Amino acid sequence: MAEETLFTKIIKHEIPSNIIYEDDTVTAFTDINPKAQHHILIVPHKPIPSIAEVQPEDEQVLGHLLVVARKIATELGVNESGYRLVVNVGRDGGQEVPHLHVHLLAGGRLGGLGFPQA
Ligand code: 5GP
Repeated sequence: MAEETLFTKIIKHEIPSNIIYEDDTVTAFTDINPKAQHHILIVPHKPIPSIAEVQPEDEQVLGHLLVVARKIATELGVNESGYRLVVNVGRDGGQEVPHLHVHLLAGGRLGGLGFPQA
């Protein structure tokens, strides 16, 4: 059985958060340290540690994360104007919480991505 993560505790309502969407497969809540006007984390209930550990049977869950992202973007009123979805993977990708999640960032014109020099 996979280890409980911080996000599992949020999904189970064991620690407080501002949950804006939940269904049987995913929960979405506002990021505690927002990097944009709207910063939502969309998290699968299955505690997949990261994209690096995704399995073929996770395909439906991964697709659902994006369908829910679009639904939330529509509810925020940004589906037409635009937003950014980010998935950090592993240490060098800047992933801090080892439970797969999609960041939805929106509100005004977002800055460019900072790609490091090769
Ligand atoms: P990562 O760096 O793993 O891609 O993103 C983790 C995100 O989780 C960060 O943006 C961070 O601000 C957020 N975060 C960390 N701890 C908590 C928490 O206890 N509650 C909420 N709502 N967000 C958290």
